[in-house]
Amino acid sequence: MSDFPKASVRDADVAGRRVLVRVDFNVPLDNGRVADDTRIRAALPTIELLRERGAAAILVSHLGRPKGEVVPELSMKPVGERLAELLGAPVEQAPAVVGEDVETLAAGLSPGRVLLLENVRFEPGETENDPKLAAALARLADLYVNDAFGAAHRAHASTEGVAHRLPGCAGLLLEREVTELSRVVESPRRPLVVVLGGAKVSDKVGVIDRFLEVADRILIGGAMCFSFFRAQGIATGDSLVEEEGVKLAEGALRKAEGAACELTLPVDLMLGEEFDAATERRQVDGVEVPDGWMGLDVGRRTAAAYAEAIGAAGTVLWNGPMGAFELEPFAAGTRAVAEAVAAAPGTTVVGGGDSVAALHEFGLAGQVDWVSTGGGASLELLEGRKLPGMEALQDA
Ligand code: ADP
Ligand code: MG
Repeated sequence: MSDFPKASVRDADVAGRRVLVRVDFNVPLDNGRVADDTRIRAALPTIELLRERGAAAILVSHLGRPKGEVVPELSMKPVGERLAELLGAPVEQAPAVVGEDVETLAAGLSPGRVLLLENVRFEPGETENDPKLAAALARLADLYVNDAFGAAHRAHASTEGVAHRLPGCAGLLLEREVTELSRVVESPRRPLVVVLGGAKVSDKVGVIDRFLEVADRILIGGAMCFSFFRAQGIATGDSLVEEEGVKLAEGALRKAEGAACELTLPVDLMLGEEFDAATERRQVDGVEVPDGWMGLDVGRRTAAAYAEAIGAAGTVLWNGPMGAFELEPFAAGTRAVAEAVAAAPGTTVVGGGDSVAALHEFGLAGQVDWVSTGGGASLELLEGRKLPGMEALQDA
């Protein structure tokens, strides 16, 4: 990881100091309990490193979208309880994000101890990147560590503003995410095969654009293939077509004509009458969708061809499910891609909230080389955009 451009917590002198750590604890809750603790686990290495080196760790995260108000259901309390279990150590919970009481707690925190602040989005200044909130956060600590890769594409007070007021360095997760994802774009083992799916072309057109210049093959699936088919004048029936995506798909098809990278679309489909697991189903050879039907998954031939390309790749990047995998009858294409990625001999990287959820559901996440914790952040990084939460940190 020698070419990571920013200062790393590994090299920081933290003993006896108070360290404010931005983590991504934006986890799903179910009845006031943490339903999936993947993101909490992903932050443990940095927290443990700080404790071992005698720092007092003050953790801050957002949770859901309270929109600048105190929403009791979005309190960090259940997160702190789960964190304490995972750490096997007590976690003190602050009654607010900032303020005098929190400053007193932070000032009294002994080396090796952990304090968790309240949901930072309870403060309206967070998403506004208000300098007053950044200053109030900075008063709590001597050093800043950003380990919230999933929020690093946002210029908020706790991800960006505060880094201008305290010496800032990257946490272990942020560093690893950036290193793994950058390697896919900058120095992949070839051939580089990129599998893209999901709902909207507009979310991913930047990534398609970049990989038309960098990858050897791009395989398209999911609802976004229908924007491409519409652009080619093919009937899409009642399939989910993003209108804005049709123009973007046209642009990508035009760019692909002159590119060394091969852009591949599905050759067959699984159709349903409605977005429902109990709906009528029909596998069609070809990609025309009659009225009254919608494409809800790629077909068997497409899935097999994509799996073969994945198996032959030196590097595979997968982002976005191949179909409406939440509906079991339309999960086969996504499962085939997930299994191929898990079994692939090449380097494998998976990003995107729903794709990662699919991997976990199929029990395959452990067989992938790098599973990214960031959806939007991973896309922006792959597009080649700078992440504000990383840019603001000190250079290496
Ligand atoms: P990720 O989070 O992995 O980046 P997206 O958020 O872009 O993925 O897309 C995931 C969503 O796309 C899922 O909810 C899935 O149901 C939906 N989807 C995929 N293919 C289709 C399809 N053919 N028709 C309708 N929805 C689809
Ligand atoms: Mg998603």
